[in-house]
Order: sequence, then structure tokens, then C-alpha cells
Amino acid sequence: MTPNGNANHVKVLVLGSGPAGLSAALYAARAELAPLVLTGIQLGGQAALTYTIENYPGFPEGVGGAQLGELFQKQAEHFGAKVEYDTAHDVDLSHRPFVVKADGGEYTADAVIISTGADPNKLKVPGEEKLIGRGVSYCATCDGWFFKDKKVIIVGGGDSALEEGLFITRYASSVTVIHRREEFRASPLLQKRAREHPRMNFILDTVVTEVIGTEKVEAVRLKNVKNGAETILETDGVFIFIGHTPNTQMFKGQLEMDNLGYIKVDDKMQTSRAGVFAAGEAADSHFRQVVTSAGMGAAAAIEATHFLEAESN
Ligand code: NAP
Repeated sequence: MTPNGNANHVKVLVLGSGPAGLSAALYAARAELAPLVLTGIQLGGQAALTYTIENYPGFPEGVGGAQLGELFQKQAEHFGAKVEYDTAHDVDLSHRPFVVKADGGEYTADAVIISTGADPNKLKVPGEEKLIGRGVSYCATCDGWFFKDKKVIIVGGGDSALEEGLFITRYASSVTVIHRREEFRASPLLQKRAREHPRMNFILDTVVTEVIGTEKVEAVRLKNVKNGAETILETDGVFIFIGHTPNTQMFKGQLEMDNLGYIKVDDKMQTSRAGVFAAGEAADSHFRQVVTSAGMGAAAAIEATHFLEAESN
């Protein structure tokens, strides 16, 4: 029991257990703040869904996404962080201590670090979910290499689709962009580069209605939205870039966000509410890498430590 009379009171509460959250926990633990991490539904965050991470420094042979998450967790716990398998669903950041309601109970905290991440939007078609990590991917940087000399399709018509598609041309023998309209949302410059690339092809006015494969992706079923014609296209990989949604709904109206729902932070990871920090993809629509999220998490914890120290002086 704390002086607040609350058994679930902590100095630092970290929401989310991806690279940002567990790095924040490590730094807060080493500052002897005994942070509590509420894991959220996906232990390890999006990174844990990646088969192999080859661009996190320190692992020249690559490391499994889930394994890296376990190592992050072990290291944070080694220094005194506590990890609770619980998911926050409601917060009151209007006064301190901050109040967080989770499935497993209510928590109060002197400082909160939000690292609830973002989820890539899904097509929600048959076969997609089952073949994630077996040909279906939402991350070219993570998985592009596995498609060396293979055929892939890209779904989407925005900057991400064309930029990531161009990235995958380093590896793949052909990259076919499937877009539901005739016009692209992507910038004219990216469109020009994509159209001029000899290994990029385009199928427009078309949607993917099914991802086909048993052990791995074998083909996709396509439907032309103008004439309804259905075709099957053989492919080894399906990369889906139809936007991300940050997991920030519960903070709406309490923290400043941009028009896509990403939490606004200053260069010290401070949100619009003193004592509330945000790190990783909940506050970053741009870099979206394990290493950048981990860095943001560390920075948020360092600043949370300064914030609490300044108060106690
Ligand atoms: P986006 O701009 O929202 O584009 C999403 C694309 O997916 C759109 O073409 C959309 O089609 C399509 N789409 C959405 N739902 C779909 C569905 N259910 N089925 C099929 N297609 C679907 O997302 P983004 O490309 O990830 O970009 C997000 C933000 O980051 C943008 O502001 C972008 O400019 C920025 N960004 C910038 C860069 C850069 O500057 N280099 C790189 C990446 C991202 P419609 O066009 O028909 O709506």
C-alpha cells in the first residue's frame, strides 16, 4: 500500500510492451522507479510478429521478433520492472495521480509513458490472417529480403505502397501494385519513379478478395471493381500498405493528436499533458522501426525520471 492508499499505485506506468514500452521500462527501472508495464493484447508489439529482425543493431545474424521482445522484457525485469499481462482500456489524465483502467483492475501513476503502438490496417479478406509471416507482410524493410528473386504484389496506392514497393524491387523479380482506383494517392514524384521502374507493374481499379495458399502464399484472387471480372494472380508475397491506425483511441480528447490520431510529442517525448510521455508508433507515423521506437522509449523514460525528480526537489 502506498501513501495514496492504493495498492496499484506506481511511479511510472508504461502502456504497451513493444520495443518502445520495454525500453522505457528498462530505463525507468534503472532509475529505480520500479515501473509497471501493462503489456496490451500483443506482447512484444508488432515487432514480435516479425519472423526475423535483421536491422536491429547487435544481432548480425538477425533475431526472431518474439525472441527480441523476450530479451527486452528479461532485461527490463532484471532491473526491477514489473510486466503485467493486462490491457488498458480507459484513462483519466486530467489530474494526478493519473488513473488507468485495465481489464485486470485500476492503476494510478505519477507518470505515464504511452507506447501503445499502431496496427497496420488489414484487408480483412479470407486467407490474409492465416498467412501473416508466410508471405503476407505489412513491413517491406522487415521482410523484403525474403523475397529475393520472387514475385510479390503490393496492395495500396499511397506513398507507403509505392515507396515500399520501390524498396522491394531491390530483391524481388517483379513487384505488381494492386490499387483499387485509377489515380494514386502517392506523390507525383513517387508515382513517376514507380512507373519508370522496369520491375514494377500496375493493376488498377482492382481489389484483392482472397489470399490463396496452404502453407504459404501461392496466389491472390483479384476483382476488377469496374467490370466485376475475377482473376487469379500467382505470387509469392503479398505486401499490404493501406494505412496504419495508431492505438490511441482511449486518449482522444485528453492529449493533443494529429489528424491521423498520432499523439503529438515535443523533442523530449512530452505530450500535451505534463507527466504523460509517448514513444514509438503511437507517436511516430514516419520511422516505424524497432530501433527508433526503442530510442524513443528510452528518451521518454529519461524525461519521466527528470520530471519526477524535479517534483521531489
Ligand atoms: P494512405 O496515404 O492513407 O494510403 C492508403 C492507400 O491504401 C490509399 O491508396 C487507399 O486507397 C488504399 N486503401 C485504403 N484502404 C484500402 C482497402 N481496404 N483496400 C484497398 N486499398 C485500400 O497511407 P500511407 O501510404 O501509409 O501514408 C500515410 C501517411 O504517411 C500519408 O500522409 C503519406 O503521405 C505519409 N507517408 C509519406 C511518405 C513519404 O513522404 N515518403 C512515405 C510513406 C507515408 P484510396 O487512394 O482509394 O483511398
